[in-house]
Amino acid sequence: MQAYRASLLRFDDAGQPLFDEDGLLVIGPDARGRQVVVAAGAWSALHASYAEVPVTHWPGRIIAPGFVDMHIHFPQTDIIGAPAEGLLPWLENYTFPAESRFVDAGHSAEVAEFFFDELMRNGVTTSLTFATSHPASVQAFFASAQRRQLRMISGKVLQDRHSPDGVRDDTEESLVETETLIRQWHNVDRLGYAITPRFAPTSTDAQLRGAGELAAKYPDTWIHSHVAENKDEVQWARELFPEARSYLDVYTGFGLMRERAVYAHCIHFDDADRQLMRETKTASAVSPTSNLFLGSGFFDFDGADRVGYRYGLASDVGGGTSFSPFTTMMAAYYAGREGQTKPGVSIAPSQLWWRHTGGAAQALGLGGVIGNLQPGCEGDFVVINPTATPLLARKTGLAQNLEELLFSLIVLGDDRLIERTMISQAQAT
Ligand SMILES: [Zn+2]
Repeated sequence: MQAYRASLLRFDDAGQPLFDEDGLLVIGPDARGRQVVVAAGAWSALHASYAEVPVTHWPGRIIAPGFVDMHIHFPQTDIIGAPAEGLLPWLENYTFPAESRFVDAGHSAEVAEFFFDELMRNGVTTSLTFATSHPASVQAFFASAQRRQLRMISGKVLQDRHSPDGVRDDTEESLVETETLIRQWHNVDRLGYAITPRFAPTSTDAQLRGAGELAAKYPDTWIHSHVAENKDEVQWARELFPEARSYLDVYTGFGLMRERAVYAHCIHFDDADRQLMRETKTASAVSPTSNLFLGSGFFDFDGADRVGYRYGLASDVGGGTSFSPFTTMMAAYYAGREGQTKPGVSIAPSQLWWRHTGGAAQALGLGGVIGNLQPGCEGDFVVINPTATPLLARKTGLAQNLEELLFSLIVLGDDRLIERTMISQAQAT
């Protein structure tokens, strides 16, 4: 076992923050040999019980759960900051040309390594991740994640129509490749597979139907796609699927809404869509930097809370503009102000943080596994230096309570705050 002493942030099951100014986190192997949280709480209450355990002391630092990014595209690392009128021209002019290069295993591996280094520098320990339509991109992603012992989820993109040469796949072959990749990687070590139709307009009925059949055959895989991001896209989906009640309803028809199904954006929804999300236990990956950058609109946080469906925060790199969870939380704060109906300023800082850690994990069906530091959770965590810059030191020093402290970190923070990212290791047996 190993213990760590510093300030300690974690959450209860309802997402309320628990904070020990002088905390202790004890990590040790579980029955499978995976490092998990054995105990967490105030140093004064715990230290006598773990007196034999070696302690690493980080004075002035904050231990917090590793961040969970609910939606990101690793092959779009190089197109961050590609300006476009909106989603559809952005896909055509930047995204598809960049993604076509991932047919090459060497390029895929090089970008995957950079991508994971960048996630670690930013304190993101799990992401639900788009690859490309090329199996080589998925192989590179999982091989690197496995070597690093990360809990990561990805899958081959399905897009057999309305896509240019170089990224368009073949209906039959794409489904065979998906099943082969599920068998090769799903539930291997800490890896999980996501069945990944890009979005309804770029898949034929046959491909969507096949994806739904695989989702039923492998019920603990994830489903990962996009919906209702941009008004032109919504209009296009309505024309392509006139029999569906709404764009979201297209996915229901193909068996693509269930627990562990995650849809990015979910901006242009009505309450019937929100009810459908709740009833099917489907989750939304809210991607505010991307929505602001591409001018897509604002996620309706009040609507999601009123109806009560699952959601969490996501960077959506490269439509999104930053790998940093602090930037994403800040953008969610801005988006939360727009169209707000409840009194108050926006979303509370601790709730922004929860939606990017334990709340995101719950939305992914991984509550109690990642995103928190309660006993039994896997030992992925970050060490935050709240004095990483002169302004941060000055501002966090003035904080009167936890919400003020967390908000200072969100407003002023970036990768410089993350002093270390610690990953749960498997013990050699
Ligand atoms: Zn996306």
